[in-house]
Amino acid sequence: MSNTNHEEDQPCHLTLKDASIPIARNLPLYDEPAQRYCPAGVYEVIDNAKGEKIFQINGQNCVHCKTCDIKDPAQNIIWVAPEGAGGPNYPNM
Ligand code: SF4
Repeated sequence: MSNTNHEEDQPCHLTLKDASIPIARNLPLYDEPAQRYCPAGVYEVIDNAKGEKIFQINGQNCVHCKTCDIKDPAQNIIWVAPEGAGGPNYPNM
C-alpha cells in the first residue's frame, strides 16, 4: 500500500550497533519487541539451519516511520536515509 521501493543493491539503511543484542538481550527480556512494533514486518526472529535463533532485517520493506530508531529498548538500531529516492510513495496524500 505504501509503494515502497529501495534499489536491491544498495547498502541496508537499517543497521545494528551490536548485532548480538537482539537475540542475547532483547529476546529473553522483551521477546524482541521489534517483531511487533515495526508496522512493515522488517524485523523477524527466525531459526537458522542449526535451529538457532537469528535476527533478520528485511530492510526492503521499511516504510520510514522511524519507530525502531526511537523504540528499541537498547537504542541499538540505527536508521539512516536510504540512497536515491527510495522509500514509500503514497500517491493519494
Ligand atoms: S523505520 Fe518503521 S518501518 Fe522502517 S524498520 Fe523501522 S519501524 Fe519498521
